[in-house]
Amino acid sequence: MRNIIFIAPPAAGKGTVSDYLVKNYNYIHLSTGDLLREEIKSGSTLGQEIDKIISGGNLVSDELIIKLVEDKLNTLDKNKPFILDGFPRTLVQTEKLEEMLITLGVTNNLVVYLDINLEDATKRVIGRIVCPKCKRSYNLYDEKVKPLKDNTCDDCIIELEKRSDDNEETFKVRFNSYLENTSPIINYYKDKGLLLSVDAMSGLDNMLEVIVKEAKND
Ligand code: AMP
Repeated sequence: MRNIIFIAPPAAGKGTVSDYLVKNYNYIHLSTGDLLREEIKSGSTLGQEIDKIISGGNLVSDELIIKLVEDKLNTLDKNKPFILDGFPRTLVQTEKLEEMLITLGVTNNLVVYLDINLEDATKRVIGRIVCPKCKRSYNLYDEKVKPLKDNTCDDCIIELEKRSDDNEETFKVRFNSYLENTSPIINYYKDKGLLLSVDAMSGLDNMLEVIVKEAKND
């Protein structure tokens, strides 16, 4: 399977698609948002700074996130495909990622763009709850990704949590930051012929089918 790099606005379904690929195709899921939230939970000074940035809906610095991703990529099991979820989010990160992948000799990559508009994404964010342990993402208003038991992770059987930045006000800032910083990346990968564009509102089964088919095409 090819490695997958997700380019998508918040709440487009990256987490849900990633969960499926991890369970069914042995992918390693590398989510920069999860890595940053772990740092916040650790209570470190860096974590406190990151918390302020994320809570405001803004992006952390390129320097910080590049270091974080570089360290992680260097320790990955090379026999497994990986998913990059949440990185790159700026053109600087995109160019740096390209360098990192060349250095690591990783060439078999697919860039998946999940397309969703602000209105649909906001609806999803309002119902989103996540497992603090395995990070699986659920949605209260979508039968297909609803937890089996109210507010409980199907796998870990612990209480699900709402993310502090999943409120309407912060979400608008995050979505606008995406439009400003991340959408130029789409053209970057389109020009390289690496981009698979998927309608994030076409239903989970359809999204998975399209993505798996292309990811298998190595
Ligand atoms: P996510 O879980 O991907 O929605 O990320 C949550 C938050 O973490 C984002 O709103 C940003 O504040 C921060 N973040 C995650 N990935 C990046 C990145 N590649 N560059 C800058 N900030 C990031």
